[in-house]
Parts: sequence; structure tokens; C-alpha cells
Amino acid sequence: MKNTSVKIINQLNDNYSYLLFSNTSPSSLVIDPAEHNKILPILEKKKLKLDYILITHHHIDHTSGVLGLLKEYPEAQIYSPSELFSLKIKKISDGDIIKTSLNEFQVLSAPGHTLDHIVLLDKKNRFLFVGDVLFRLGCGRVFEGSIEQMHSTLNKFLDLSDEMLVYCGHEYTLNNLKFLESLFKQNEILEKTKKQILEDLKLKNKSIPFILGDEKRSNPFLNPDCEMTSKFKKNNNYSNLEFFRYLREKKDNF
Ligand SMILES: [Zn+2]
Repeated sequence: MKNTSVKIINQLNDNYSYLLFSNTSPSSLVIDPAEHNKILPILEKKKLKLDYILITHHHIDHTSGVLGLLKEYPEAQIYSPSELFSLKIKKISDGDIIKTSLNEFQVLSAPGHTLDHIVLLDKKNRFLFVGDVLFRLGCGRVFEGSIEQMHSTLNKFLDLSDEMLVYCGHEYTLNNLKFLESLFKQNEILEKTKKQILEDLKLKNKSIPFILGDEKRSNPFLNPDCEMTSKFKKNNNYSNLEFFRYLREKKDNF
């Protein structure tokens, strides 16, 4: 169970897939594969065998690599919250525990972006794979669910440990930052967050993973009462849900 590492794999324009592996066994696990041809060479190079494919939601940019991976690793078990290309899958839903040879995931339902969306929580390793629900300084678009659903999904994350490392499905951080800058001018916390993000991008060319505790302080989509925007929210007399609706609608048209 120890020494589980995450390799972040760039996919398509701005998608991320994740490879979990350890240095004690050849077993590995992939989350949300979009392009199998960018994943297979990594498995080969690391001498890994793909045993598990996990899906957070049914969108094609999170699933289009599955068939290509299965061609090479037909024995891989697929865990998905909904049907997938008529394949044999293990259907997962809220409260399920997925025991792999590498780790243990708790499945949490997270409707809003899609209705089937789940997130994967590994408390021991402090991993939280959120697909398209939560982004750094933002959240996913509400395609299938309601604003209320998305709001209560995001609320669930407030109860999780600040220490969790969040791995999301897209690199949207700079755009999210620009959006917040357009709304909340001369904001000290936003300035500080921006500095950290630009540093991360310079160092790793990525802004992920990010720390859930930081997001609780700086992401108003996640925490309407975060320090960055609490004054604005109070001045406008918004309830948490109203403020979330306001932000999400503004962002949809940004
Ligand atoms: Zn999606």
C-alpha cells in the first residue's frame, strides 16, 4: 500500500489523465484516459502492467482512451459510474470502496457537471481525483445537473481534510484566475494566489495537484465564504447558493 505515486499525463488540449503506480510492484492504474497512445509508452517505459481503469464521468474526453488501452491490456478491470462502450464494467456509486493492489479508493457521488459524476478519495495517500467537478480557482460547468446539485456537491469537499491533494481533469487555472481578477479587483488574497500559481506553472508547467485547504481559502466556487470574496458576498446580501449561482452564470459568459 505504500509509495504510491501519481504520474500526470497531458491529454488532448488541456485534459489530464493520471497513472498510479508504486516502486514495489508492476501493477498500475489509470484514471480518465483520453489518448491511449500517450499512455502506453509510459507503461512500457516504466515496465508496468495496467490492471485497472477508473472513470470519473462519461464525457468522451475522459474515456476515449479506454478501448486502445484494453487492446494491450484486455484483463484490466474497468470501474465506471455508467455504461461504457458496451464493455464489461464494475459499476461504481456513492459509498463504494475500490480495493486495488496499489491503494484503496472511496467513491463519492458528485452530480452537477454530469449526473453520473463521481470523485475518488484515497485518504491514506491524501489523493482526491475530482474529474470535472472542482478546478483550481473554479468548478466545472453544470451540464446535466442543477445549480443546487453542483453547489451541494462542492459543499461535500469542505468536509474533507485540508491536506488532500486535488487532481482535476483539466488545466483551466489561468482562465479561472483571469475571471476572478475581472470580478474582484485589487484583492490581496487573489494577488497572493496568483503569485503561487504563476510559480507553479513556471516550475512544473502545471498548476496541479493543488491543496484542498488552499482552495477552501481562495476558491469562491468551492467556499462562498472564503476570505477572498466574503466582503463582496456580504455587501450584496447573497446566500451561499445565490452567490454560487451568480459566479457560475458570470463564468459561463466570461
Ligand atoms: Zn466533463
